[in-house]
Amino acid sequence: MDTKQIAAKLNELKAELEARVQRTHKHTYQKDQPVSAKFDEQVVETENDSLVMALEAEGKEELALIDKALHRIEAGTYGQCQRCGEAIDEARLQAIPYAAYCIDCAN
Ligand SMILES: [Zn+2]
Repeated sequence: MDTKQIAAKLNELKAELEARVQRTHKHTYQKDQPVSAKFDEQVVETENDSLVMALEAEGKEELALIDKALHRIEAGTYGQCQRCGEAIDEARLQAIPYAAYCIDCAN
């Protein structure tokens, strides 16, 4: 397994996610538009906000997983299931490079 290549991929993902989280954060907290006067519009805005906040939370969670995977690469334990210690299937790591569990433990 080429962990250097995986680290590069993880760092790329991380940069993308960080940019996305920053954008959604801006959207949520730095509004230059005044709150809509009409109630209907307010409801829509509130719904959008919670969606955006959910996206931001999801992005942050994913970032934490990526950081952990990068630490595992440094520690030399990358590709090992964090629960049972078995090797994680390489196809799974290709699809989810920050996967911490083998397919059995993830289910
Ligand atoms: Zn496992």
